[in-house]
Amino acid sequence: MSGGRAKKVAVIAGDGIGPEVMESALAVLDAAGAEFERIPVEIGFGRWKRTGQAMTEDDLETIKECDCILFGAIATPPDPGYRSVLLRLRRELDLYANIRPFRSRDLDFIIVRENTEGLYSGLEEESEAESRTVRVITRCGSERIAEKACDLAAWRKKLTIVHKANVLRSDRLFLRTCRAVAERRKVPAEDMLVDAAAYNLVVKPQRFDVMVTTNLFGDILSDEAAGIIGSLGLCASANIGERWALFEPIHGSAPDIAGKGIANPVGAIRSAAMMMEWLGEAQKARRIEGAVQWALEQGRKTPDLGGSCGTEEVTWAIIGYLKRKEGC
Ligand code: ATP
Repeated sequence: MSGGRAKKVAVIAGDGIGPEVMESALAVLDAAGAEFERIPVEIGFGRWKRTGQAMTEDDLETIKECDCILFGAIATPPDPGYRSVLLRLRRELDLYANIRPFRSRDLDFIIVRENTEGLYSGLEEESEAESRTVRVITRCGSERIAEKACDLAAWRKKLTIVHKANVLRSDRLFLRTCRAVAERRKVPAEDMLVDAAAYNLVVKPQRFDVMVTTNLFGDILSDEAAGIIGSLGLCASANIGERWALFEPIHGSAPDIAGKGIANPVGAIRSAAMMMEWLGEAQKARRIEGAVQWALEQGRKTPDLGGSCGTEEVTWAIIGYLKRKEGC
């Protein structure tokens, strides 16, 4: 890190495969020469089982004292009153832009998902006879996510605004606002109904470049996109706000494979690379991404990609490449 104080990163490994892929990501960051102060914070299901609380106010304060967060994955406690820790973090830190790049040999597109409102507003009522969730779309929320998407699309080809404005009145505001921002920013933009976008992602994913959409649509389309790329285990994400950012693989805690040593570490490693870029270390980020691509091309793949390598073998292949290329 050039100049100034060392950056502080809250490291939240979490549950299930979270600690396994976090170990890989940290080892790769070390091999790439990343320098930052690690602040481990235990939150999630394991913490809840031990103490009855998945995250405390003190944890939140510790996290807020850091520059950013590197996150593994956390499992949901079996408690009907439980509120998602990740949703709380996104809201408390106002991490409004969820940036999810999808890259493979012949595909390269980004989903920009609004992260703080929509159907994840938290405004809900539940009863046996009728339940409601309020879908909140604001002009301010739509404007700032459209600006973030345009920041990316301005360097690329085009923006696709994904919505359901033909049925949902709340999406008319989202669509109108995104169109206005794209027009002002002179970014070529089209719009598409979410059902058509889901279909097109499967039949002609090459047509997409930067997609911007609301919270739930972005959540669902991202998992679909991960399937098209090959595995959830390959995909990274950044949750960006004005002050803080949180970097996490898009997969969950995957309890079905936890402890088996076969979790794909690539999504977590790519998330670490996105963090380096956010911290102003773009060259290190590029080196990590190059090493990941090399390992995949060499067939160093975990079983989710049809390979026979374990988490450690893939991680060591990536580290080996970084060390060989050191100084190049
Ligand atoms: P959440 O609700 O937290 O998103 P989930 O159970 O819906 O969790 P994941 O935990 O992401 O979803 O798991 C979905 C499937 O993808 C599982 O079969 C899991 O084994 C697989 N999977 C997820 N991440 C990886 C990974 N890194 N490597 C290999 N397989 C993975």
